[in-house]
Amino acid sequence: MSDCIFCKIVAGEIPCRKVYEDSDLLAFHDINPVAPVHFMIIPKEHIESLQDTHARHEMLLGRMLLLAPYLAKEQGLNDGFRTVINTGRGGGQEVFHLHMHIIGGGGPRPL
Ligand code: AMP
Ligand code: ZN
Repeated sequence: MSDCIFCKIVAGEIPCRKVYEDSDLLAFHDINPVAPVHFMIIPKEHIESLQDTHARHEMLLGRMLLLAPYLAKEQGLNDGFRTVINTGRGGGQEVFHLHMHIIGGGGPRPL
């Protein structure tokens, strides 16, 4: 996906503040944080959104979820965190490469 900004980050063509990387997943800080800690976990594979996942992505999706509390703790979020996946235009998604926001450190907030 040549014009996908997150694919370019995966390829190292655009820099990021990396939090974690393995063969399937990448995590990096959001460029426009909404809280003291705000990073995202993405699959390296270009998947447009959660609406474009299938049974073959079961392991990948499970790994994204399992990684979240581990990295959140590593980033100092000992008291909990929010996970957000915006899906599709109706869900407010702006970057069409699946990503899970991990947000915390900003005190309580609704929803
Ligand atoms: P969403 O609305 O869930 O699609 O969110 C897209 C997120 O990507 C926004 O929070 C942006 O701040 C973030 N973002 C866009 N470009 C970059 C970038 N180059 N590096 C890090 N985060 C980015
Ligand atoms: Zn992509």
